[in-house]
Amino acid sequence: MTATRTLRVLHLYGSLLNLYGDRGNILALKYRCERRGIGFELSEAGIGQSFDPTSCDLVFAGGGPDREQRRVADDLVSVKAPALREAAAAGTVILAVCGSYQLLGHYYRDEAGGEIRGVGIFDLHTEHPGEGSQRLIGNAIVDWEGHEVVGFENHGGRTTLGPSATPLARVVAGYGNNGSDGWEGARVGNVFGTYIHGSLLPKNPWLTDHLIGLALARRFGEGDLPPLDDSPEQRAHEVAAGIARAEAGRRKGTGGLRA
Ligand code: GLN
Repeated sequence: MTATRTLRVLHLYGSLLNLYGDRGNILALKYRCERRGIGFELSEAGIGQSFDPTSCDLVFAGGGPDREQRRVADDLVSVKAPALREAAAAGTVILAVCGSYQLLGHYYRDEAGGEIRGVGIFDLHTEHPGEGSQRLIGNAIVDWEGHEVVGFENHGGRTTLGPSATPLARVVAGYGNNGSDGWEGARVGNVFGTYIHGSLLPKNPWLTDHLIGLALARRFGEGDLPPLDDSPEQRAHEVAAGIARAEAGRRKGTGGLRA
């Protein structure tokens, strides 16, 4: 029964990892639950705080510059990794954007060559090519299981997937994991990693509902969601897609649609 369902969301490092409106992802989840009469509970875990992996249906972590990443990385590995691994193994929906996506892999090697260890939920690693290298910045379109997903990316790190990692989406415009192999993000079970900020969810309502539906289905055995009027979200989506296409067109002469 829709009215009795509640989505319990855990936001990790909300004050440290919040680039390009990442918190908007939380607001989009809340908005789309509440408009349907689905309860929404939000908790946060910052530095030094562990969490009970059975107490949340969806975990979100955003992106951050290298300095913030370094601050959370130790905590992620030493304090939160056991709960995070347990949540991932139990099918909890986890969405990690950019800096936190990188930290769910094996390691991130920063601009100066320093290595930041990750939790290894994803079989991938990320390396920054070093000072003076091009950052991968711009608006992006990716194809996620036949759905167009739009947003903004800005990262120096290039992510390479290992043999047991599955990419999340195919790059249509923009850079994605590394600007060269055409893949964006990674997925294992219900754990999703992506470079797309912007915020990601407000202008991709299909994806927001997909994540809510997965989380509710896992907990209540029923993830069906009544449709909402998405016209404002769709307009925002179309504007973002138009900007990404225009940017890709301008880059065309200098390296193709993607880069
Ligand atoms: N510091 C990382 C990089 O530049 C992640 C940046 C981000 O989260 N936007 O690769």
